[in-house]
Amino acid sequence: MSIKRSISPPPAVTKKLKLAESFEEYYNLDPKYYPKPITWQQANAFNNGKRPKPINLLNDQIKNQESLKKANISTVVHWFRTDLRLEDNTALFHAVQQLKVAQKNNTNAQLVALYTINEHDFRAHLDSGWKLTFAFNAVENLRKALSKMNVALVVRLFESKKPLLSRSNEYADWFKSQCLSLANGSALVTANAQYETDELYRDLEIYKKQDDKFHFQVYHDQCTVEPGVLTTGKGSQYTVFTPWYKKWVEHLKAHKDGKDIVKMLNIDIEKTVNQKLEQFESCDYTLPDEFVSYLPTTELQLPEASEQQAHKVLDDFFKKGKAFDYNNKKDVLALDNTSHLSCYITSGLISTRMVVNRGFHENGDSLMRKDIKQNNSVENFAKEVAWRDFYKHVMCNWPYTSMEIAFKFDTVDIKWENDVEKFRKWCLGETGLPIVDAVMRKLLFCGYISNRCRMIVASFLSKNLLVDWRWGERWFRKHLMDADLASNSGGWGFCSSTGVDAQPYFRIFNMKLQCEKYDPKGAFVKEWVPELKGVQDLKILREGTSNDRTADGYAMPIVDLKESREKALEAFREAM
Ligand SMILES: Cc1cc2nc3c(=O)[nH]c(=O)nc-3n(C[C@H](O)[C@H](O)[C@H](O)COP(=O)(O)OP(=O)(O)OC[C@H]3O[C@@H](n4cnc5c(N)ncnc54)[C@H](O)[C@@H]3O)c2cc1C
Repeated sequence: MSIKRSISPPPAVTKKLKLAESFEEYYNLDPKYYPKPITWQQANAFNNGKRPKPINLLNDQIKNQESLKKANISTVVHWFRTDLRLEDNTALFHAVQQLKVAQKNNTNAQLVALYTINEHDFRAHLDSGWKLTFAFNAVENLRKALSKMNVALVVRLFESKKPLLSRSNEYADWFKSQCLSLANGSALVTANAQYETDELYRDLEIYKKQDDKFHFQVYHDQCTVEPGVLTTGKGSQYTVFTPWYKKWVEHLKAHKDGKDIVKMLNIDIEKTVNQKLEQFESCDYTLPDEFVSYLPTTELQLPEASEQQAHKVLDDFFKKGKAFDYNNKKDVLALDNTSHLSCYITSGLISTRMVVNRGFHENGDSLMRKDIKQNNSVENFAKEVAWRDFYKHVMCNWPYTSMEIAFKFDTVDIKWENDVEKFRKWCLGETGLPIVDAVMRKLLFCGYISNRCRMIVASFLSKNLLVDWRWGERWFRKHLMDADLASNSGGWGFCSSTGVDAQPYFRIFNMKLQCEKYDPKGAFVKEWVPELKGVQDLKILREGTSNDRTADGYAMPIVDLKESREKALEAFREAM
């Protein structure tokens, strides 16, 4: 990741960052946006059929979409959301196909690209400044690429004094009026589905606004295998990853497309578009300070947010050999040997189909040669990409997992300690547990940490500190560049034993062992906790110090690992 920083971060990285003074936004859903959070009993209505799942409602709409051969469409508007790319983009492909149809009736039919902003969504969803800044840079690069093809990318800002989310009726009205203002007559809007519950309800609201001048079409694109396709023998969604993954591989093999394991789409915008670059009113948006004030400014350099760069990151991962050494090195904390593709995938600068295809070809046209247990490095890498699909499928089938309700209802009775001061120390990397502090400081400084790092600190917060996993999930969302609701709540559910196919509750990461295995010489700890730079004693580097004068002002651990482990076991045992 090309984040520039001084050779080593300053002793207290966090002191350089202006952090939110109040931590309250991490304790509860914001009542301004969610006045009545659902209970697990209400969530259960999705399971027993009393409340329709939004994904099913969306699929009903998708089924009714047709090529609008008879409608006189003057403008096809592709609405870019988390699909900020021109290659292998399903809805964009259909936009261009529909444009060809429209041109038969109307030679002046045009293509326009639209990107919309609603700050209320950012606040309600705790979007991180890292992620938003990265996405806006990507939009700017997309705008330049499109303008070379004579397609305007128009940015429009939804402004409301009321805290209105995009799923509201007012937003849908506003959205329709924006699209019609771009069209010289009637508009067809294409978009790729987003599977978070608010976003699904938003699209359903927009469908309701259709009339003979305004048409809306949504496509599945975000996953390698779309949600709902892989079911158990009984026709239900899998709750365990391994059998689901076998099915995922079988499905891909059965639907192979020529040489590729998964079909990719060729989009010929340049050949189809026959228009001058039109000038539309577009807003010049800058993120308000509240979203970026906690980012380190001087050393910050975000990774380049472009489609070309996404391809380069993928290419380098294979060409530089990291992919072939993934099994051995992905967890070594000081090496950073993973692909770093997550922010590109989350913002849609690259499709996971392209990533999986690349792995397939690099692996001698194979995804799973023998048995899952014998997976080689590239196969394991593809399996990690599949985890992302798995969590999206889970979120579609159990929509409440994106509404802060745990997948496992029996965990609602866990008596979390929720010690605000301990949570604050965890956030700021001041727990006195070197590995935890190193990870949390890196997160603050880079907006990115590896999967192993995420698991270590998630286990520590939810088990050793007995802090409700949702607090940590929100903190991650607010600070990760790649924040993605499905993977984030899935990962937190896994580590806190409250989610789908989670670790058994008695698996509590042993911090000493994690250090021995993944940071054996303490190099990672020393990089991010420079107070311990001069310390030779591996015991201190792994377990912290029992003497506050041992290491240049470094705090003593806020919990005893053994005691807190016992306490966590008891709390989970009692609840479940
Ligand atoms: C507590 C917790 C929170 C997480 N929050 C997020 C999040 O907000 N956004 C996010 O993209 N990932 C999240 N993950 C998953 C994973 O940690 C990141 O995807 C990964 O670290 C990104 O680094 P990379 O691109 O170098 O991954 P690589 O190891 O190179 O993997 C390639 C791609 O596979 C996917 N992937 C890898 N591991 C996982 C996984 N365990 N679950 C789902 N997808 C995976 C990602 O898209 C990733 O870019 C979380 C995991 C945990 C344990």
